[in-house]
Amino acid sequence: MRVERAEVERRIERFKAASRDAGVKLTHQRLEIFREVAASLAHPDADAVFRKVQRRMPMVSLDTVYRTLWLLNDLELITTLGPRRDSVRFDANLEHHHHYICVRCGLARDFKSAELNTLRVPEAVKQLGTVVATHVEVRGICEGCAKKKAKKSSPGVRKQRQEEERGKR
Ligand SMILES: [Zn+2]
Ligand SMILES: [Zn+2]
Repeated sequence: MRVERAEVERRIERFKAASRDAGVKLTHQRLEIFREVAASLAHPDADAVFRKVQRRMPMVSLDTVYRTLWLLNDLELITTLGPRRDSVRFDANLEHHHHYICVRCGLARDFKSAELNTLRVPEAVKQLGTVVATHVEVRGICEGCAKKKAKKSSPGVRKQRQEEERGKR
């Protein structure tokens, strides 16, 4: 799934302007890495970005992809989601939005909600520190995974699988 071309171009213009303002050198590699995140609706992690850009730029390293993604994050051109730094995922949609996450395959999709945008943060949170942003993560099992599960548990397929397993031994 890809982002509309006009929106990708807007994001790239923003990237160029931010790089100029911050005095960050605009290299071909950085541009291609950003383009990959900017055009994806999948909220890719560093590995996924690396695999994609590697097809166009065989010389790029995973380390460069990591450093560039965190640079883009520092420039506030992308945001992150996910609790752990090693499996963090990157998002170039900077409009206020929320996420649907499949707990089985990790699919991540954006959705908008005026109601959730105005969510009131409890006082207890404000005592912990200032609030920069709020976003809601809805977790579930996506359509694709639900279908796969249904197929797997049908008796015909199960039998075939058992036979395959036996064949391997
Ligand atoms: Zn899924
Ligand atoms: Zn998002």
